[in-house]
Amino acid sequence: MTEPDFEATADAFGMLADPVRVEILATLWQLESATVPYSELRDAVGLRDSGRFNYHLTKLTDHFVEKADDGYRLRPSGMVVLNAIYAGSYVDAPVRGGLDVGGECPTCGSALVGEYDAGMFRVSCGDCEDQLFMLSFPPRGVTRRDDDELLDAVSIYTRAHTRRSNSGLCPFCGGAMAMSLVLDADSDLPLSTLVYSDCANCGTENRSSVGFSVLEHPAVAGFLHEQGVAPDAPPWGFDWCLSDDAVTVASRDPPRVHLDVAVDGSEETLRVTVGDDGRVAETECVETV
Ligand SMILES: [Zn+2]
Ligand SMILES: [Zn+2]
Repeated sequence: MTEPDFEATADAFGMLADPVRVEILATLWQLESATVPYSELRDAVGLRDSGRFNYHLTKLTDHFVEKADDGYRLRPSGMVVLNAIYAGSYVDAPVRGGLDVGGECPTCGSALVGEYDAGMFRVSCGDCEDQLFMLSFPPRGVTRRDDDELLDAVSIYTRAHTRRSNSGLCPFCGGAMAMSLVLDADSDLPLSTLVYSDCANCGTENRSSVGFSVLEHPAVAGFLHEQGVAPDAPPWGFDWCLSDDAVTVASRDPPRVHLDVAVDGSEETLRVTVGDDGRVAETECVETV
């Protein structure tokens, strides 16, 4: 794992340590023009005391804000901070519970329940309390959505997240992830065959079922599309994403598995082979048994 530059990071956060500075950043964002003249920026922030305004603007300048000939504009580092601010990352996250996600527990068959708390979305069994799925989700993405809209949004977000991590790109830091297929994984999930994606930069460890890890592969997406499945259908709606039941081990050394991707009532099943690097090695359409 890479060691962060603690001092430079603390200095950067220190430059933001006043509500006026955060307001200046937000104002530059909201005015939407590339460069905002000094007087327009000061009027928009509404700070009459120009000495105080200058003091705070100077603190931001060079790191989060850039001074140009005709005014001020956000630097990319300022936009990154604003993304986190508008995502609600630095304020108390809302809580939602008892969401009917529409899937069944692979262990006991009870309905799965979704909940959102402390910035994390989880899908668990309402009965045996097996937790099947957990991912961070931006708090602001929750507040303005009703339950159905939230589930749709989390599904899209999750699938995009998994597409990145299972393509070797860390969804948190942009670092490279090493991927592997593990047959006898020790995890809290009710699964023992997992695809690991580990980030060498930030240390994120992503654990996916074989089904979930291949969900965004073009052959799998194409098969599901042909079977009439909606493109952003939630992963917890597919039983082959929630358990090992559809997985057969083709080889232990090196690890290699087949996964049968099936849709209720379809005559064909897509057999997906995943190699020791956690990636799809081949796919084949077979008759549904
Ligand atoms: Zn259960
Ligand atoms: Zn990372």
